[in-house]
Amino acid sequence: MLYGIFSDIHANLSALEMVLRSMDARKVEKRICLGDIVGYGANPNECAALVKKHSDFCLLGNHDSAALKRESYSDFNVYAKAAIEWTQSVMSDSTKDYLKSLPYIIEEPNFTFVHASPVSPADWNYVALIDDAVEAFSYFSTQFCLIGHTHNPVIVAVTANSDSEIPTISDGPLYRPRDDERVLINVGSVGQPRDRDNRASWCLMDSDGGWIEIVRVEYDILATQNAMRKENLPQFLIERLMLGR
Ligand code: ZN
Repeated sequence: MLYGIFSDIHANLSALEMVLRSMDARKVEKRICLGDIVGYGANPNECAALVKKHSDFCLLGNHDSAALKRESYSDFNVYAKAAIEWTQSVMSDSTKDYLKSLPYIIEEPNFTFVHASPVSPADWNYVALIDDAVEAFSYFSTQFCLIGHTHNPVIVAVTANSDSEIPTISDGPLYRPRDDERVLINVGSVGQPRDRDNRASWCLMDSDGGWIEIVRVEYDILATQNAMRKENLPQFLIERLMLGR
C-alpha cells in the first residue's frame, strides 16, 4: 500500500491543496498527517477541514496544542506568538473540536508516527542533530518512525542491533532501506519549508518499507503571502515562505 505522510501545514491552504493533489497523482492510498495544521498562516479553519476530510489519521502538533491554549507558548518567538494569538481569535468550534481529538503518537506494526520526537512526544523535543536522531532510535520499536516539527526533511538509517554504528544520512530524495535497517524519517513541512527549498514537502512510502521518497511540490506562494497580508500576519512569516527558510 502507498502511504502519503505530511506534516506542518501551518494554515497554508495553497500548499496543502497542491500536496493533496500530488498525493492523488502518485496514487497514495493512505494519508497520514503528523500535526501542526495551524499556526503561522492565514487559513487554519480551511486547512483543518481539508486534513480532517482527506487524512486517515492525524496527530497533534505543538502549534495545534498552543492554539487550543492547552499549554504555555511563552517559548515561541514573537512572530509565532502573534500568529498563534490571531489563530485563537479565528478558530471555529469545529476546528477546535478536531484539534482536541488528535493524539500525540500512533503506532502500527511497522510504523511509529509522532509530531516532534518519540522521546517524550508531549515535550516537543527537536530531532535536529545526529545525536538527537541516535537517541530517538531507542524510543521506538518499529522499523520506521516518521516525524515532522523541524521543517527539514531528512532520512536517517541505522543497522538494527548495532549500537556503535554511525547512522547513514540520505543525501537524496529517494532511499531504499535494507531489511536489517531501522529508519527515522523527517517528512519536512507542507506550509513552511526551512531547508532553503521553498517547495512544499511530503513523504511517499511503500508500506513494505521497500523505498522512501521525499516529494517536493511547487505551490502558489504569492497567493499564500497575500492571504497572510490581508490578516496582518507578521511580515517576517510572509517573507520566509519565498526563501524557504
Ligand atoms: Zn511546525
